[in-house]
Amino acid sequence: HIPVICIDGPTASGKGTLASQVAQRLGYHYLDSGALYRITAFAARRAGLELDVAHEHAVAKLAQALAIRFDGTQVFLDGEDVSEAIRTEQAGMDASRVSALPAVRTALVALQQGFRRLPGLVADGRDMGTVIFPDAPLKVYLTASAAQRAERRHKQLISKGIPATIDVLRADLEARDARDSSRAVAPLKPAEDALLLDNSSQTIEQSVAQVLRWWDE
Ligand code: C5P
Repeated sequence: HIPVICIDGPTASGKGTLASQVAQRLGYHYLDSGALYRITAFAARRAGLELDVAHEHAVAKLAQALAIRFDGTQVFLDGEDVSEAIRTEQAGMDASRVSALPAVRTALVALQQGFRRLPGLVADGRDMGTVIFPDAPLKVYLTASAAQRAERRHKQLISKGIPATIDVLRADLEARDARDSSRAVAPLKPAEDALLLDNSSQTIEQSVAQVLRWWDE
């Protein structure tokens, strides 16, 4: 049975960094499931589709046929490097909108489960433990205060030379969390058997060490 570690949690809680570092330490594959929703939204916009229920099936069809390739920290859609384009705040909000469409979520299930390959997988997202890999032996639900998350995102953007305001970022991430938690399908919530990790006052190394300890137990 191929092992999976799920790391779910709200926007900008540090899931991606934690999950990719745990994957690296264990020599496992890594799935950034949020990227799939971001790319779906990106492809839908490019195809001129609105990201609403009226276009649910068209967007789902597109999601089903996505030609995505991950290569380290880069991601390609039909051979085009979209790594930067899908990382904007707008792309995050767009992803949150398409991810609330049930047919889109269904269209991406098999693609996500296909990442479960030997020797193992670390998957990050919102529903890894609740929907995609319910049998995963370790599920972590990662949180941090909204203030902390906004501050970290702010630092990240500023370091890339992208202007941003903490208050606006915080309002945006709280709006995204509210949408992700209140949707009808696969709402953001910890799996019943998830272990909670609040990293508000932890370094990345401390969070990585905690997850590796849980994995060894
Ligand atoms: O994690 P990330 O910020 O890249 O995710 C973008 C959006 O995609 C989230 O706000 C959420 O709405 C959606 N998502 C999801 N299920 C996942 C991963 C992401 O609904 N497993």
